[in-house]
Amino acid sequence: MSTQLKDRAWIEVRANALLANAEAIVASVGAEALLIPMVKADAYGLGLEQAVRQLERLNPWGFGVATAQEGVDLRALGVSRPVVVVSPLSPTAVDRAVAADLQIGVSSLEGLEAVVNASSRGSRKVGVHVEIDTGMGRAGFDWRSAAEWGPALKRVCETDVDWVGCYTHLHSADEGAAACHDQQVRFSQALDALQPPSGVLLHLLNSAGSMRLPEFGGGAVRPGIFLYGGSVGSGLPRPDAVVSVHARVVHIHDAMVNDTVGYGATHRAQAPSTWATLSIGYGDGLPRALGNRGAALVSGRRAPIVGRISMDVTVVDITGIGGVSVGDLATLIGTDGDKCITLDEVARLADTISYEVLTGFTPRLPRIWTGLDGC
Ligand SMILES: *Cc1c(COP(=O)(O)O)cnc(C)c1O
Repeated sequence: MSTQLKDRAWIEVRANALLANAEAIVASVGAEALLIPMVKADAYGLGLEQAVRQLERLNPWGFGVATAQEGVDLRALGVSRPVVVVSPLSPTAVDRAVAADLQIGVSSLEGLEAVVNASSRGSRKVGVHVEIDTGMGRAGFDWRSAAEWGPALKRVCETDVDWVGCYTHLHSADEGAAACHDQQVRFSQALDALQPPSGVLLHLLNSAGSMRLPEFGGGAVRPGIFLYGGSVGSGLPRPDAVVSVHARVVHIHDAMVNDTVGYGATHRAQAPSTWATLSIGYGDGLPRALGNRGAALVSGRRAPIVGRISMDVTVVDITGIGGVSVGDLATLIGTDGDKCITLDEVARLADTISYEVLTGFTPRLPRIWTGLDGC
């Protein structure tokens, strides 16, 4: 491992934990459910290539992405399994998706028509997954009116494309079962009206749904955040921690009473203090909202972030933490000794969700994967 990667700030990604989390999903939904791990947004910011290398070990049915480019990237990595684009494609992206042999989620008859047009220029039929909107309200055919769109959809799906799947997306599986049940009933109603051929793959469970309502099953599941270490709701199994985020102590100084720190001078020393400057900032994706709220672990102790976070550096109060030197390791997410700052705690403190924290880390932070031996 080149030390250069660890000379300023970095993300450590534990391959074994990702694999263990994926296995926990499989254990919940049962081995007969097909696995479509979601690897959109560079595998939630952790690095597509390495994530896929790990997930391939579970022999997934395919992978889920949100954009044509992400599917093209998977093909460039040599992935030959089905790749499903679950988000609506802009009309200009359909040709690229078809050229890369991606399967396409369709939400409207016009969208389906665009796929048919693109596929008529190629030699094979394009795989299509029909999305049904059961309350998410961002994509899909309206579950109430399958009698209207169903016949035209079926005509096209059964002749001009390869009808691979039908799916819907749960909006509140992290919060409880009630809303999921409503959506499941709507999905079933739409399918009753539509009567897709028996080979069509049904899928509706994200991570939280896979843990909370595995009995909804369908033929396949689409887990994302749980694989990457984000919790999926109270009362549900917790994932193993996959990421930790580290920086270096690059400056230490003593502050006198009334000294201020950071833009806007929003923190003032109440007593003589010791402040350590860490080499990570919002330009690395550390949420700026953690200013005066978050903490770092230094020498196995919790050091509160003082003042606003800058683009490149963050200052923590290490008063009373002995033996800290420039060059020492600081942990923004992860464990140090018996102390721990979890991804979910950081998300909560920053008034956001683990997904946004993970995907917010910028390319400035190298992703250092560990435990990759043997694959
Ligand atoms: C992102 C996404 C998922 C995965 O959701 P998680 O909450 O990360 O498990 C599944 N399905 C669709 C359609 C998605 O967009």
